Formats: sequence, C-alpha cells, structure tokens
Amino acid sequence: MELAKIAKITKDQLSFISNANISFLSEVIAADVASDLLIGPEDKEKLQKGKVTNCRVIVNSVRDELLKYEEERRKAREASELCIEQVNQIFSGINAIIDMVKQDKCQSFNAGISFAALFPDTLNDTPTKWSVSSKSENLTKKERSLKKRSFINLFNLFDTFNIIKIFDTVDILHGLHLEIFFFDDFQSYDAFKLKLESWSSRYPRLVKFIPSIGKTIEYRDIPVIHITDMNTVLNSPKPIVWIQGGQHAREWAAISSVMYLTNALIKGFNRNSRITNLLEKVEFIIIPIVNPDGYVYTWIDPSNNVYRLWRKNRRVNSDSSIGVDLNRNWGPYAFSEPETSAVSSYAKSFVSQKIVASLDVHTYGQMVLRVPGYQKTPGPNEGVLKPLGDKMAVAIKATTNNIDYVSMLSADLAPTGGGADDWFAEGNNVKYSYTIEMRPQLDQPADIKFLLPLDQIRPCGEDLIASVLTLAEGAIAI
Ligand SMILES: [Zn+2]
Repeated sequence: MELAKIAKITKDQLSFISNANISFLSEVIAADVASDLLIGPEDKEKLQKGKVTNCRVIVNSVRDELLKYEEERRKAREASELCIEQVNQIFSGINAIIDMVKQDKCQSFNAGISFAALFPDTLNDTPTKWSVSSKSENLTKKERSLKKRSFINLFNLFDTFNIIKIFDTVDILHGLHLEIFFFDDFQSYDAFKLKLESWSSRYPRLVKFIPSIGKTIEYRDIPVIHITDMNTVLNSPKPIVWIQGGQHAREWAAISSVMYLTNALIKGFNRNSRITNLLEKVEFIIIPIVNPDGYVYTWIDPSNNVYRLWRKNRRVNSDSSIGVDLNRNWGPYAFSEPETSAVSSYAKSFVSQKIVASLDVHTYGQMVLRVPGYQKTPGPNEGVLKPLGDKMAVAIKATTNNIDYVSMLSADLAPTGGGADDWFAEGNNVKYSYTIEMRPQLDQPADIKFLLPLDQIRPCGEDLIASVLTLAEGAIAI
C-alpha cells in the first residue's frame, strides 16, 4: 500500500474541504435539498472531474430556482450545518484511521469497521447500514428527512471532489458504499456483497437482497438481488427477467457489468423512463457472481495469471485436479456442483412468477448468443429469438460509441453441452434465453482478453444496460 500517497491525499484534501469550501458546499447541499433539484447525471459527470468551478456552475444554474424555495432553503441550511459538524467529526475519524493504517495497526478492511465504530451517534454500528442518527435532537419527521438527505448529498459531493479516494485507497469505501468510484476499478467478492446489501437498505422499495441462495464448495454465499417497483401491484405476478454473471471466475468484466447494470436499474428508477416503466412491469433477479470461490481465487494474486485466469469453480476432483466448468454443468446428468444446483433450484422456485427472459453474462468477444448452444439447428423460438438478439446488438451499437456486438446462434460459436442458456430455455421454459459475451472483441492480444482496462469498466457496463433494457422490453412486448 502506498502510504505516503494516502497521507498526501489526506492532507491536501482535508485542508481543501475543511476550510472555506465547506460553507460553499453547504450552500450547494442546501440548494439541492431545498429545491429538490437532485443533481442529474450530466452534472454529476461534470462534478466528477473534481473542479470547484463546476460546482459553482451548478450553484448558479439553480440560484433562480432557489428563490422560490426560501423557507425550505432556510431549513435545509440548518440541516446542512448539523451535517457539517458531523462531517468534521468524520474527517477527524478518517485521520485516526489513516494513522492506524500507517502504523499497520489494522488491516484495511477492519479500518472500515473502525470507521463506523468511531461514530456511533452518526452512523449505525455496522458499516453496511450507515445513516444519520437523530438521537441527539428533537427533530420533526420532515427535518429529520431533510437532514438525512443533506447528509447523503454531502457525501455525494465529496465523491466528486475525490475525497472518497482516501477511503478507496484503504478499502474503506466499502464501508460507505459510495457508487461513483466503485466502478473505477474491479471489486472483490466481499465488496460486491456489501454493495448489494447497502443497496437493499437504501432502496427498500425497489430492492430485495437475498444474502445466500446456497453455499459454494468452499462455503461461501451466493447472493442474489431482486429489483422491482414494489409499489406497483399488477393483477398477475410480475414476470421475471433473470440476469446472472460470473460463472467463469476470470471474466471480471462480466461481473462488473452485472453490478453496473444493477446500479443503473436502481438509480434509474424515477429518473429514466424506460427503467421506471420496466420496474413497474417486471422483476429483475440478478446474480452477479455464480462462482464466488473461483472469483475469490482470481483475487489471490491478480498479477499472477495462474490465479487471475482461473475459470472453473474450486472442486477437488477425484483425480486430484481442481475445478469444474460451471457452464458445462447444467445438462441432464448435471448439477453435481453446489453453485449450479443452488442457482437452478432458485430459478425453479418461481413457479407462479414466470421467468420470461434470461441472460448469462460472460466475456469476451462482443456477441449476443441465442439458444441453442448444444446444436446448430435453431430451436423452436428462433423466430422471436433472432430478431430480439439482433435488436439487442443494435441497441448496444446505438448507445455506446458505435461498438459492434455480433448477434448469432450460440452453437455457431462452438457447440457445447450443459450451458446455462440451454437449461433456462429447455429445462426451465424461458422463452428468451441468451448468453452475452462482453468486451473486448475477439481478436485481442492475450493480455487484454480477460483483463479489460479499467477505463472500459463503465462502457462495458453501458453495453449490458443497452442490451438488457432491450431484452426485457422485448420479452414483455413493450
Ligand atoms: Zn465464460
């Protein structure tokens, strides 16, 4: 760990934030809370560049609006002032943590726990459920809500100033669950689990988190997240769109893309009309990592390809070799592996709520692959599968920098038995069953294939969003 670097960032950033700019920030927050003008994605992008001038632009742009909301603004400012006190406390806590890390007194992740523990009045006692406590004041419900929101907004702004990079570096980010930097890098299995859990506590009307649908061979959890607008009740159970990733351990960009998609579905509700509309009509069931053991193994030493390029699970076979390829384990004599067994049983458990579409996310090759995967003769649903697969590829190209994905029959790549897509189609009657191979494209040098550059994490995630929205809309015929 680069301690000197951390210390430097800390010193610079803290002095930056704790002096004049803090009141400036409070103004922005007050503005944000008072006028209900949540910072939109475009503004956020500007802010992400971390320049104060960009902030000022936003303040100016909302100033006229603000005049209409004087009273709320005053209240919000008071709420923000309370927040600033808390934030000052937090920054002294950050210093304490960084000191501990510098002195090697704690592991990086434990620092995250310590961080929450330092502020029992401010944060709940677990880092996965942080929120502002109103314990010390007699606030009305509205004031409490304003305060809470301003606190959260404050953190959103800190993101934009790279402040949270401090956390990121020492891995404390995961204790706070901030999204902006989450997709700047690949993340560990533990980080993904915490993230899923935090989304469920922050968005209880949209998200249901199932910590484990079954244990792996090495006894890890396979977590699942459900996303739907729970306030919309239909006459019949909502159809399910099933997304899973990470059967193959080394396909990090598949897993990051599924997480990116999950983030977009949650944050897009009430902001993006297509997502809002879909969440009213369908339920997404998302399993970002079907193969946690394999994924954790790739993280043991990512600079060593023996670990980083591991594909299978971590079964010790009878001949002492290690690993079973999970995407060959969905066939008629299969489900020998606890991972595929857990996931398929979970899928089977939705009897009244039909799974209308499934997408198994892999890398690499930029391909939308429709079933069947085991034979080159098109299946009975070819007449609807091909047009929708083609449409998914077109949607990706249309929305993400002209990137080409090829739409084709899965078996035309290479016929393989026991794949998840065939099981969903034929073993579980899912009409629209696909596999997608994310970035990069096929002809890549060996060191790129499974090692997507960090700046491609978000664009690759955007590819998946484009394809999944098209798939879901097509499956329920919007
Ligand atoms: Zn794969």
